[in-house]
Amino acid sequence: MVGLYDGTDSTTEHFCGPDPLPVDNAQYCYVDNSVSWDQSFMQDGYTTGKYWVYMVIAHEWGHAVVEQNPEIEWGEPELQADCLAGAALYGGATDGLIAFGPDATKEFATDLSQIGDEASWSETNDHGDSLQRVNFFSLGKEYGVNGCLGDD
Ligand SMILES: [Zn+2]
Repeated sequence: MVGLYDGTDSTTEHFCGPDPLPVDNAQYCYVDNSVSWDQSFMQDGYTTGKYWVYMVIAHEWGHAVVEQNPEIEWGEPELQADCLAGAALYGGATDGLIAFGPDATKEFATDLSQIGDEASWSETNDHGDSLQRVNFFSLGKEYGVNGCLGDD
């Protein structure tokens, strides 16, 4: 985890390899195998509820898992990361590592809906719409990591 950076502070260097980390976003950096996020991205998302932070980090962690295990990669990377996020978060809850309140499922769905389509937390060539993102997150929630490995 590199963790927090201030994307609006041009005096601070924050890079993934040669590329600057994005403003108002979070990212898995394959160059140094790190996860980082712009503080404004987390603060803005947190205004809708605390589960935003869990979901963003779990999603980026999902990208890290796929990068470390390329044999499991399939289809749309954003949707697979959403699936692995659901698997990680609800697997953690099943194992007693995380306790979610009664609003968690609804809040995760709302968060995923907000970042679907053309929202900033997705690259321009991503194709996960809101419903797809919620569905893949739910797939991971229901079936764990095995639900995120595709049909092969
Ligand atoms: Zn992603």
